[in-house]
Amino acid sequence: MDKQLPRRSAWVEIDNSILKNNFKYFGQDRPELLNFLSVVKDDAYGHGATSVAKVATSHGARYFGVTNITEAEELRKAGIKRPILMFGALRQEERELCWELNLTPTIHSSADIIEFQKVAIRRQKQIKVHVEVETGMGRYGIRWDKAADLFKNFEAFDEIAIEGIYTHFAMSDEQDKSFAMEQLSRFKSVLNYLEEQEFEIPLKHSCNSGGFLDIPPAHFDMVRVGILPLGVFPSKVCRRISGIKPVMSVRAQLAIVREIKKGDNVGYGLRFTAPQNMRIGVIPLGYGDGYPRVRNSGHVLIHGKEAYIIGGNAMDTTIVSLDNIPEAEQWDEITLMGHQGNKSISAHDIAKLKGTVSYEVLTGWRARLPRLFVN
Ligand SMILES: *Cc1c(COP(=O)(O)O)cnc(C)c1O
Repeated sequence: MDKQLPRRSAWVEIDNSILKNNFKYFGQDRPELLNFLSVVKDDAYGHGATSVAKVATSHGARYFGVTNITEAEELRKAGIKRPILMFGALRQEERELCWELNLTPTIHSSADIIEFQKVAIRRQKQIKVHVEVETGMGRYGIRWDKAADLFKNFEAFDEIAIEGIYTHFAMSDEQDKSFAMEQLSRFKSVLNYLEEQEFEIPLKHSCNSGGFLDIPPAHFDMVRVGILPLGVFPSKVCRRISGIKPVMSVRAQLAIVREIKKGDNVGYGLRFTAPQNMRIGVIPLGYGDGYPRVRNSGHVLIHGKEAYIIGGNAMDTTIVSLDNIPEAEQWDEITLMGHQGNKSISAHDIAKLKGTVSYEVLTGWRARLPRLFVN
């Protein structure tokens, strides 16, 4: 692959052709009438929100979802015209910006709807909103057994158009779906009430990627997918869609190759002492870039082979043994996450080193690592 390297010998690589393929395979897997909302919060989990949003648009995204005004504004500035759902709660000045930027806020309480109605009256402009129902995540939304209260008073709010109603699963991608089923039945109790009251809401939605894959009875009118089109499955046990591959890789170049002698030390804290004369390589990327802080654990790929990390890594550097890769030279390409040759290191593998989940690994690569868009 011929690529123009960034001005730093370590980078996050985003493969646009894989991203397009993932949206294509997701589209083929998705029931035809099921809409999708593309979740591009946190810079599309570090993949670049506007570039992901553009690909999602051309693959039929009905909606976008973000968690704060700055993220929404970035999409609007990039020319994204489709509706944007704001997850989370908004302060008064942020509420006003929903009109300026044409955003769809989430309603979490009866008090919330009153505040939006006041702004709508003052601006003489109706606004579309989605109501979130809290069914077991303990986070946002109006509790399922209180939701009827919100709708009872609804006639008073003629400046508010309730376009959507949704909930969010706490455990959608694990083997045990019993809590997800409980949440689904709580959500359905609210939907049944609305049906009895002949209250029409066009977009009912509850699924994230895990729910989309594993809980078809919860699909309703739309699913909200973040991690799946990025090519990372939300868990080890959820259903797979063949063809979907990780969009993000993390790469660097060998900054230094050196020989050390038996008994020499490597890195802070003298965590590694050479058991024999050996060749080692210095990678110009460390925990300050989002790589886990490790000590004699983990590996990278060089010439398609595993190079094991020795010693404790630093903010800006990680050191590997090159004993089994005699052909390695300065400025050779290194893969810290992603494919090289016929080997690969997944976000889940890195998550294990860090004691976390793939979501934190994807979003954890820092802005100091330039993004290189390929293909
Ligand atoms: C982040 C988020 C999603 C997307 O979750 P994935 O598991 O990445 O698909 C969906 N809905 C809400 C409300 C979210 O906050």
